Amino acid sequence: MKLYAPSYYKDFKCIADKCAHNCCIGWEIDIDEISLEKYKSLKNGYGPTIMNSISLEDTPHFKLCKGDRCPHLDENGLCKIILNYNKDYLCQICAQHPRFYNYTTEAEVGIGMSCPESARIILTSQNYDEIIEVGRIDEDPIDIDFDGRVLRGEVYQILKNTTQGYENNLEAIYSKYQIDKKNDSYWLEILDTLEYLDNESKLLFQNYSSKKRPRGKEKYQERFLAYFIYRHCTEAVDYEDFCKRLSFCLFCERLLASLIYNEDDLDKIVDIARIISAEIEYSEENTSFLTY
Ligand code: SF4
Repeated sequence: MKLYAPSYYKDFKCIADKCAHNCCIGWEIDIDEISLEKYKSLKNGYGPTIMNSISLEDTPHFKLCKGDRCPHLDENGLCKIILNYNKDYLCQICAQHPRFYNYTTEAEVGIGMSCPESARIILTSQNYDEIIEVGRIDEDPIDIDFDGRVLRGEVYQILKNTTQGYENNLEAIYSKYQIDKKNDSYWLEILDTLEYLDNESKLLFQNYSSKKRPRGKEKYQERFLAYFIYRHCTEAVDYEDFCKRLSFCLFCERLLASLIYNEDDLDKIVDIARIISAEIEYSEENTSFLTY
């Protein structure tokens, strides 16, 4: 079926050795069956090194090296599997990262914000609501009763209303979908119990306060929120589920607003958005703790 994406999707290209937070550091990469068979068949050259770097315990995965680096990341930040073979030899997770997919009656793809280059593109692109065809995907459409894209479009329409300002648009969304913001201590307690990749993030997130609403950075908050809605609300199974997911996205927006309150440097704002994404939405457990 056809594959769609926000128009900024076509601007993404991995910046590899220029990346400050390379995705080949800190994550344990699971290897799919097809790639594992491919690696097993490489009897010469770099092939045996690849096999020696794989743990076959539970789900096969690459054993991380010192500093939690992928064993195939070289000192220049490049992938030795690509250098020795080509991109077709990457396992599925590496080949797809940072892409994610939404499946409804059509397929959509997006770029995940835990990648610094994606975060930069998402926060600096205006037209998050411009969805374009980017190719085809070998999947069948899903038979659904509820289409999250319709409500997503409604929320985007409110966000894009230029007559009353961003904060009023947000209040209109809270009110229309009856989202309870809950009090700050409720959220601070949950933030304290999350699992963190980096303990520094835990300290950073303790700065959460719903009262910290920055001025002049609304466009970044709006684009951040639109990305979360695209990623998390599209596959909602009914209205109630959509509102639950929307509430999670709005909490993440309030967290971003709190953390960029005293921050004017765009690079720092992008980095904070990346940290929120990596710590929260890339952990199913953390996401579920924050969704009610
Ligand atoms: S985080 Fe993004 S830009 Fe950096 S190496 Fe990974 S895909 Fe490339």
